[in-house]
Amino acid sequence: MTTKADAQRMEKIVSLCKRRGFIFQSSEIYGGLNGVWDYGPLGTELKRNVKDYWWRVTVRERDDVVGLDGAILMNRAVWKASGHEETFSDPMVDCRTCKARLRADQIAEKNGVKRCPNCGGKDLTEPRPFNLMFKTYVGATEDELSLTYLRPETAQAIFVQFKNVLDVSRKKLPFGIAQIGKAFRNEINPRNFTFRSREFEQMELEYFCRPEQGLELLEYWKEERLKFYENIGIRRDRLHVKKVSDEERAFYSRGTYDIEYEFPFGVQELEGVAYRTDFDLTQHIKASGKPLDYFDEETKERFVPHVVEPSAGVDRTVLALICDAYAEDEAPDDKGKMETRIVLRFHPRIAPVKVAVFPLLKNKEALVAKAREVQQLLRPHMNVFYDEGGAIGRRYRRQDEIGTPFGVTIDFETLGEKGEALRDTVTLRDRNSMKQERVKISELLQLLLTRVA
Ligand code: ATP
Repeated sequence: MTTKADAQRMEKIVSLCKRRGFIFQSSEIYGGLNGVWDYGPLGTELKRNVKDYWWRVTVRERDDVVGLDGAILMNRAVWKASGHEETFSDPMVDCRTCKARLRADQIAEKNGVKRCPNCGGKDLTEPRPFNLMFKTYVGATEDELSLTYLRPETAQAIFVQFKNVLDVSRKKLPFGIAQIGKAFRNEINPRNFTFRSREFEQMELEYFCRPEQGLELLEYWKEERLKFYENIGIRRDRLHVKKVSDEERAFYSRGTYDIEYEFPFGVQELEGVAYRTDFDLTQHIKASGKPLDYFDEETKERFVPHVVEPSAGVDRTVLALICDAYAEDEAPDDKGKMETRIVLRFHPRIAPVKVAVFPLLKNKEALVAKAREVQQLLRPHMNVFYDEGGAIGRRYRRQDEIGTPFGVTIDFETLGEKGEALRDTVTLRDRNSMKQERVKISELLQLLLTRVA
């Protein structure tokens, strides 16, 4: 159950996202487009940091995973073989009174009567299948032959390119193919901000293995994925692991976990980790007639590999990060009076801006010149924000609100006006503790690099 306080918290988060340029409604000046969002300057950085970190730990830091960047458009035959064309649908009901389109499984029954959750009306259509894939046409004519879909998941490109990747990478089982990319689902009820969108991004890994390794690797990847969320700063006690029951699981899966997060609107799925057996490769072998199997040089066996799939949503991870980081506490203003501070306690690793550089005064040329020098020094290595406007306390506050973990102030000590010992040193302020330390400019870059790595 979500409380009024949770709803208010969510409202504040949505408003902060717009006010500070994390997330905007798509096509806002035309009234928006339901279920579609644009990321503003800070949201773009945050999202990029999430994807880069995922890529780093999933692909670059491992010997057994390689990458793929498949196209969004694929031959329609892919979606027939994968089962998406026939089964990728949620039964849907229309309310004849208020015209709302509703998911059949989300309509509650009261005294044996189904009522529209929107208007309370009883005049509902029978459930009808609603395919979640967006249709499109390739080429000049709009007919059955040119029909295909915007991909509803990134995974299928990995399955159909399995052989090509295997041949060029010369990997031995177990090994994985990873991909990050857009996916599209014409969701019936987009809701909860970006949580359920119609256009979103996925980070998927297909980890191929021998059949007898599947269940063990399912456990392994569940743990690895939990570590990932902790390493980007999400609190472990707000993460939940749900073992998906036999009834709820896809028929071909031999085990699935949902990794969930306690959003202000309820505990909801962030990622699915599924042991999909050899279902996908076998489907494509049958439909294409091409060999997508594996030859084990040592045992001289030929077989279709099984696969474990951790499939995460970039947008849901970003939303979880923002919800997890959002806090209000007390901080002194310029006159030392305590005031409420809004702070995003992002882990430095994923914070959109790593460090803000401030000259103490903007009308002192020497301070500005030194601050610009520090900005140039740090810039090639991390996202730096330069700000010379307003009282220093207000500048700190603006950075706290967007989660910048470090602030560097260039003051008269830096210029050597308070003695030679402090020349070329700056104050380094920590966002969470608000404590300041004096650091030599020559040591600043190395120090920051170790803290944001
Ligand atoms: P749900 O039950 O919430 O619709 P799902 O089980 O259909 O999700 P999967 O098909 O397992 O989702 O997709 C893997 C991941 O992709 C999800 O865990 C989620 O992070 C992301 N994802 C799926 N659908 C959406 C969506 N409509 N908006 C944003 N992210 C999504």
